[in-house]
This record gives sequence, C-alpha cells and structure tokens, in this order.
Amino acid sequence: EAHTGGGARKAPRNPYAGVYPGNLFMVVAPSGAGKSTLVNALLAKDPAICLSISYTTRQPRPGEQDGQHYHFTAVDDFLARHAQGEFLESAEVHGNYYATSRVWIEDQMKSGHDVLLEIDWQGAQQVKKQFRNAVEIFVLPPSLEALEVRLKKRGQDEPNVITRRLLAAGSEIAHASEAEYVLINENFDQALAELQCLVAATRLRFASQYARHAQLFVELGIHLPHAE
Ligand code: GDP
Ligand code: ADP
Ligand code: 5GP
Repeated sequence: EAHTGGGARKAPRNPYAGVYPGNLFMVVAPSGAGKSTLVNALLAKDPAICLSISYTTRQPRPGEQDGQHYHFTAVDDFLARHAQGEFLESAEVHGNYYATSRVWIEDQMKSGHDVLLEIDWQGAQQVKKQFRNAVEIFVLPPSLEALEVRLKKRGQDEPNVITRRLLAAGSEIAHASEAEYVLINENFDQALAELQCLVAATRLRFASQYARHAQLFVELGIHLPHAE
C-alpha cells in the first residue's frame, strides 16, 4: 500500500495512463537556430506528423498567413482564451505571448496522429508535466556567430528585434539540458536526417507501440509492467 507523505491514499497508477497512440514532439531552439526550417523539411518528408499552430500576439512577418504559421491574435483575445483554459501551455517570449491549443492536440493524439510543437523551453516544461512521454528535441546552432548570421540572413525581423533575440539566445540555450535529445544544426541535411531518426525511434518505444498495437500485444500475451 502506497501512501503519500501527507497520508492521503494513492490510487495504483497505470504507468501508461494518459499515453495516447500518437506521439508528442517538441522542437525547442533559440531564435535563428533553424527550428522552423528543419520542422518544415521534416513535415514535407513525413506527412503523418501534424504541426500544432500556436496562438501568438506577435505581428505577422511578411508572407506569414493567419491560421497557417500562427493564429495571430490581439492581447485581449489571447488573455480571454487563456482564462478559459484553452491553452495546454503558454509563455511570454521576446515580448509577445505564445500558446498551444489543448483540445486540438489531444484530439490528434487520441486518434493516433503524431503531433509536433515548435515552442520555447518554458512551454516545453509545462507540456512535460502533463504528458510524461512528450519528447523534447533541442536544436543548437554550431556557434553564436552562425546564429547571428542566420537571424540576419532570414531578414524578416527589425534590427532591434534581432538584437533582442540574440541577447536572449544564451539564456535559452542554458535550457538545452532539459531536453531528451540535442541536434546541432550545422550541416542541414545531416540535422534533418538525425531528426527523422529521433522520430522513428520514438515511434518504436514500448508505450507507443503498445498504444498503437494493443490487440496484437494482448494476443501475444505481452503484459504491462506491474503498476506501482
Ligand atoms: P522563430 O523561432 O525565430 O521563428 O520565432 P517565432 O516567433 O516563431 O517563435 C518565438 C518563440 O516563441 C520561440 O521561442 C518559440 O519556440 C516560441 N513559441 C512558438 N510557438 C509557441 C507555443 O505554442 N507555445 C510556446 N510556449 N512557445 C512558442
Ligand atoms: P528558427 O525557426 O529557429 O528561428 P529558421 O528556421 O527561421 O530558425 O532559420 C533561420 C535561418 O537560418 C533561415 O534563413 C534558414 O534558412 C537558415 N538555416 C537553417 N538551417 C541552416 C543551416 N544548417 N545552415 C545554414 N543556414 C541555415
Ligand atoms: P517567432 O516570433 O520567431 O515566430 O517565435 C519566437 C519564439 O517563440 C520561438 O522560440 C518559438 O519557438 C516560440 N514560440 C512559438 N510559438 C510558441 C508557443 O505556442 N508556445 C511557446 N511557449 N513558445 C512559442
């Protein structure tokens, strides 16, 4: 019989409670490391992964479409949705609010789709508390100089915004140790191939395979590890 420190009775825990047949990936990186480029290339090669479209209060960049890159929204609408409990996680990043819709993600994972979130480290911490099996992949630039070159090359942010993002890079990179996996995005094709390997390996984890192939596992007499 397990008791918590407070003496309250603890229900036996199924170690796979809350494990949906779909996997949850989080790609985290300082701005300019190549996160979005890698993710877009992954999605082009692997249509079974759905990308979560975040809500943000940031202004759209040239060419960004509402509902495609982000749900662009005003601060008051964002705060109202937040108060309604609509968000799985939310964070203030570089002076704007960002958040992930809860319902959409759960629906996708329950129906067996893998979901990918492009979020910051604060959001990743919040998601991990709710989905123990979420996989965090941290993307590092090969150097701070390269990060600066890439942010400038992208050419879509004002100079003061680029400066602010570069200044924030160090404190974001300090959270790389919280991730399960780290990619160093030097050679793009190599980083993409490594990202595909991580996705493939995650799909083969016991919990994920059990959730997807429960009937086969039962037929083969494979049982869950004894609950605590
Ligand atoms: P980019 O990463 O330089 O392309 O800039 P973005 O404006 O796309 O993202 C800004 C920051 O917000 C990054 O740190 C993202 O990881 C983070 N972010 C994006 N979407 C979300 C989200 O849904 N939730 C959270 N918590 N952070 C997000
Ligand atoms: P993030 O989403 O992390 O802010 P982006 O995906 O927008 O970063 O990439 C920033 C810039 O760096 C883009 O112009 C992109 O084309 C470029 N880039 C991405 N990966 C590489 C790489 N391996 N080598 C050189 N440039 C890269
Ligand atoms: P950008 O403004 O360049 O599109 O994004 C800046 C940062 O915000 C990126 O590091 C990105 O990962 C993060 N971000 C984007 N969407 C979300 C989100 O929904 N939640 C969180 N926590 N961060 C986000």
